[in-house]
Amino acid sequence: MENYQDLLTKQRTYFRTGETKSVAFRINTLNTLKSLVQKHEQDILDAVKQDLNKSELEAKRAEVGLVIGEIDLMVENLEEWAATKEVPTPASHEGAKSFIQPEPYGSALVIAPWNYPFQLAVTPLVGAIAGGNTAVLKPSELTPKTSALLSTLINDNFPEEYLHVVEGEVETSTALLKEDFDYIFFTGSTGVGKIVAEAAAKHLTPTTLELGGKSPTIVHEDANLDEAAQRIARGKFANAGQTCVAPDYLLVHSSVKDELMSKFKEVITASYGENIVENPNFGHVVSERHFDRLVGFLDNGSIVTGGKHDRDNLIIEPTILDNISWDDSVMQDEIFGPILPVMTYDSLDDIIEPIVKRPKPLALYLFSDDEAVQDEILSTISFGGGSINDTINHMTSHYLPFGGVGDSGMGAYHGKASFDTFTHFKSVLKRSTK
Ligand code: NAD
Repeated sequence: MENYQDLLTKQRTYFRTGETKSVAFRINTLNTLKSLVQKHEQDILDAVKQDLNKSELEAKRAEVGLVIGEIDLMVENLEEWAATKEVPTPASHEGAKSFIQPEPYGSALVIAPWNYPFQLAVTPLVGAIAGGNTAVLKPSELTPKTSALLSTLINDNFPEEYLHVVEGEVETSTALLKEDFDYIFFTGSTGVGKIVAEAAAKHLTPTTLELGGKSPTIVHEDANLDEAAQRIARGKFANAGQTCVAPDYLLVHSSVKDELMSKFKEVITASYGENIVENPNFGHVVSERHFDRLVGFLDNGSIVTGGKHDRDNLIIEPTILDNISWDDSVMQDEIFGPILPVMTYDSLDDIIEPIVKRPKPLALYLFSDDEAVQDEILSTISFGGGSINDTINHMTSHYLPFGGVGDSGMGAYHGKASFDTFTHFKSVLKRSTK
């Protein structure tokens, strides 16, 4: 197992020069990174196409566009966010002044997953840079083309004592996690999140864990079913269902189930065509192991639409499974694939209880215009974040901190929340001796 102590020592020594703390330096780095992303956009699109068969349209928006938007927001606001801010001082401390001075943690470790292999590696890196840190990035080994591209982009353009990509598998992560980084930002599964938290605890390293989970999607009796079918299908089947905030399973009011099912069939055919296993733009499942796991769910309940699959090309059609129960295998863990199990309910009480008994989800979606229903769901169920009458789009707003709660993670990022995540806010009381 390689030893990354030398790399961390180099980053620490460089961090102590203070160069990364200058706001002008941070902005300059962010601008350089933006130019690199723009210059290599086609390389990025090609890499994610080869790794995941991600379509160019989807990749432009979700891999490149989100990163550029995040950099622009940081550059625009950094001066203000990084400034020391005076705060009131209580009367009991008369004569003193109080201020909060944001400072970088030092050297950050970012560990990334494979499902949005460029965006989920670079967006945290943008936060680390904006916060004034040095950083080591470990991309996912399951998307090797993107991992190699990240390594070239970063390692050829920045000194290793500032920003460095380390490629590798689990042993590489394990070796990196032995080192005493000043911050760890991990995106991945809940199981590995626990391993990361344990490693971080040894050094008491502050950590953000962006994890997964089963995100419920509720369609109430008053919902606009055309919009619900469109927006759920879009959120579920983008990237072949391999999105951390994808609707995992559907709870639909029994009075509208049949109509919603037939609308799903129309929407899926209109979006992806008749013979989806041959559609060159439909995403691939990342590996044979994941493909076999997903195909194992196809005998749960009964298939409403989809179900065809092709192991040679790792494609599974968008599939809807009806007559599912909470005990079925598809309902035990995060699905992370293009399969949507469906259960019905008659009263909200029937679904609130089973949801709150399970691990807190990363996202929840509700389709209903009834404010009493919205209030009931929002006030009784804890989840990372979500949308009403939409899916996944809460994640693409810089103004909404993005993160999980409980088993779906801790901490949040995007926009100002990213800057805050990679920043320690040092509180100072200043008295005069005169
Ligand atoms: P994963 O946990 O298997 O791997 C993530 C990273 O951790 C990879 O870089 C991998 O090399 C490393 N890793 C794997 N096993 C490790 C170990 N034992 N010790 C140390 N490091 C290890 O996750 P994944 O399969 O890449 O991604 C899918 C999961 O990530 C899903 O659960 C999904 O919901 C979640 N996810 C969450 C978000 C979010 O923002 N909350 C975003 C994307 C994906």
